[in-house]
Amino acid sequence: MLEQVAPRVWVTTSPTWLTTSTLVVDDDGACLLVDPTLTPADLVSLAAEVHGRGWHVAAAFSTHPHWDHVLWSDALPDVPRWATPAAAAASAATDLADLAATDLPGHRWDVVGGTTPLPPDTTELQWTGPRAVVVPTPGHAPGHASLHLPDDAVLVAGDLLSDVEVPLLDDTDGAVDDYRRTLKRLAELEVDVLVPGHGRVADAAETRRRVGTDHRYLDDLTAGVEPLDARLGDPRVRAEHERQAVGLGR
Ligand SMILES: [Zn+2]
Repeated sequence: MLEQVAPRVWVTTSPTWLTTSTLVVDDDGACLLVDPTLTPADLVSLAAEVHGRGWHVAAAFSTHPHWDHVLWSDALPDVPRWATPAAAAASAATDLADLAATDLPGHRWDVVGGTTPLPPDTTELQWTGPRAVVVPTPGHAPGHASLHLPDDAVLVAGDLLSDVEVPLLDDTDGAVDDYRRTLKRLAELEVDVLVPGHGRVADAAETRRRVGTDHRYLDDLTAGVEPLDARLGDPRVRAEHERQAVGLGR
């Protein structure tokens, strides 16, 4: 079920990990679909709802090459599904369908991966709707990028600034520093509406709060201090936290 979060932006949220899909809708019904998710049945429902509203998917964007952010369906049209060059390369190098089947068994996954690399140094998506600026936001996954809609003050963040997941770090040297720089970069943007990849949509004040909470989490993680972070109450998030605490030599 689509929920309108800004005049030209709609979101659906899966009960699984509160994973979001975002639609940016132009006046003529052309849609930019960001990170459509989650199950094959969810994607068929989303395609039907778009059609039922008289809209059409004109372009798509994947924020990063984790399997739950590079999904597609035969029920959706064959449009470019852009990703940064690094993200597209990473998704091509991994068996994402296998990871999907492992993480969320019992589905016949239609399309996982297969994104189209944006031309290098692309700063805005070339589509006819509201301006969509590609903001490189490394730290969580290779080639991770958020979309900022400057005319709408909307940030489609990808796996950042979540109220249900702590910062989950990419498996690379320097990921913590990358992540801190990403948080600073996002804090400079004008954001009235934040759509995280997992969790609840936020207003400007809540977005600022999440930036602070994520900085604190990273400070505690690197200092070897147990974070006082409500998100660690979820056993799945707790397990990810323990794994990355060990990885940082705690
Ligand atoms: Zn992710």
